[in-house]
Amino acid sequence: MIIVLLGAPGAGKGTQAKRLVEKRGFGHVSTGDLLRDAVSRGTELGRRADEYMKGGRLVPDEIVLGLVEELFEAGTSADIILDGFPRTVPQAEGLDALLSKHETAVDCVVFIDITVDEAIRRLSSRVSCSDCGAVYNLMWKPPATDGVCDVCGGELTRRSDDEPEAIERRFTEYHAATKPLTDYYRSRGILRAVDTSLTSEEIQSEIDGILDGGCGCGTRETG
Ligand code: AMP
Repeated sequence: MIIVLLGAPGAGKGTQAKRLVEKRGFGHVSTGDLLRDAVSRGTELGRRADEYMKGGRLVPDEIVLGLVEELFEAGTSADIILDGFPRTVPQAEGLDALLSKHETAVDCVVFIDITVDEAIRRLSSRVSCSDCGAVYNLMWKPPATDGVCDVCGGELTRRSDDEPEAIERRFTEYHAATKPLTDYYRSRGILRAVDTSLTSEEIQSEIDGILDGGCGCGTRETG
């Protein structure tokens, strides 16, 4: 089963993806994580991506598609959560072409949306461990000791693209480039919207319900 988690920055895609990986053993493909890894290893691709990411802009499609293609060529698990990819219509078309080469297709797109104000509220209090990547929120999931990761003792830092100005830029890009994907997937009958007024736990069980029902895509009108 191939599931796309689609949503605004700060909507909780990463949190939901990690939970699905732990609970259901899905493979997790986060282009944000792949790109951050390339940046921290200082690869050529990482250097090219870094200037876009710092400013909260989307990395060009060919770079992202190249990364995902490499991953599929190396072999992936049968059940995958795509988190933060695709983010543009050309990426979605590239993904469809890549999957059809592997004789498979996207089964379901779970759409989680939030407002820019809510995103700024959530993201400006998000910190993560520079060593193990564990994510905290200073408002509702703070570490036991300020600035120190509970899991590995590493240093907690805020992502440069979680500064308010970068968040606003990410939202502008989201509305221009990513939101149109809802129409792309709605027209294929595989879009399922999750009610984001719910708590994170309620969203979890809503997503579980969607997946347990084999997605049941195309059966529900979405916002
Ligand atoms: P994320 O961790 O998913 O929020 O991604 C962090 C940053 O990586 C984004 O703000 C973009 O600059 C870049 N990025 C991640 N995934 C993509 C993608 N599919 N297309 C373009 N840029 C991406």
